[in-house]
Amino acid sequence: MIRVRGLTKRFGATTVLDDIDLDIADGERVVIIGPSGTGKSTLLRCLNFLDRPEAGRIEIGSVAVDAAHAGKRDILALRRATAYVFQNYALFANRTAKQNIMEALVTVQGRPKDEAEARAIKVLAETGLADKADSYPAALSGGQQQRVGIGRAMAIGADLMLFDEPTSALDPEWVGEVLDLMRRVAEQRQTMLIVTHEMSFAREIADRILFMEGGRIVEQGPPEQMLDAPKDERLQHFLRRVG
Ligand code: ADP
Ligand code: MG
Repeated sequence: MIRVRGLTKRFGATTVLDDIDLDIADGERVVIIGPSGTGKSTLLRCLNFLDRPEAGRIEIGSVAVDAAHAGKRDILALRRATAYVFQNYALFANRTAKQNIMEALVTVQGRPKDEAEARAIKVLAETGLADKADSYPAALSGGQQQRVGIGRAMAIGADLMLFDEPTSALDPEWVGEVLDLMRRVAEQRQTMLIVTHEMSFAREIADRILFMEGGRIVEQGPPEQMLDAPKDERLQHFLRRVG
């Protein structure tokens, strides 16, 4: 269970997240949509303190953090409870696929190397990349690199997986295999919070869609309601634009 209350983030004089409340049930798949510059990435980044929120309370599983007073230990606990999939994969260029997946298991989770390696090999098999274990990112396609990025997040076994536009940096030919892997993750009842512009994927995978604009959640509901019968004018406008 994830519970966020009053999450607020400013950059200088600009309020980018404006008093966000959000609950996510175990195993729920929540998709965030909205125009660019409305705080979608910032929301994801604040949930694990990649960006530091000014105010708010974040509870993920057994971890509860008050943003205003969060110390190093709180931040580490949040990072352990979450796993992040980045738009640009964010793999270490000088490490193999297997080493990229092992990294957080060893440094963040403190697992022994042989255990981390066994886990990485298992996850690579699940992502269909068993034969790429010793390949460096430069030798992989964009789709394969993002599957390593997702594999890295899967390996952590986090309470919450965060996806920030995981397919938007990909050539169209690689989008399908990445979405397929995300479907497989969803089938495992992994709790997921996904920012995406892939509307048909959102419709298919989401238990709930959130529409964000101007640092607020303007409207939310099940996909059919949000995409077929949007109430807020700003959501109607957004959907007309993304087609
Ligand atoms: P989205 O993901 O919805 O496109 P972002 O969360 O990336 O939006 O950005 C929301 C707003 O915050 C934008 O106006 C952006 O310019 C601003 N912003 C994001 N990161 C920073 C930063 N590190 N410093 C200053 N402004 C930022
Ligand atoms: Mg973004």
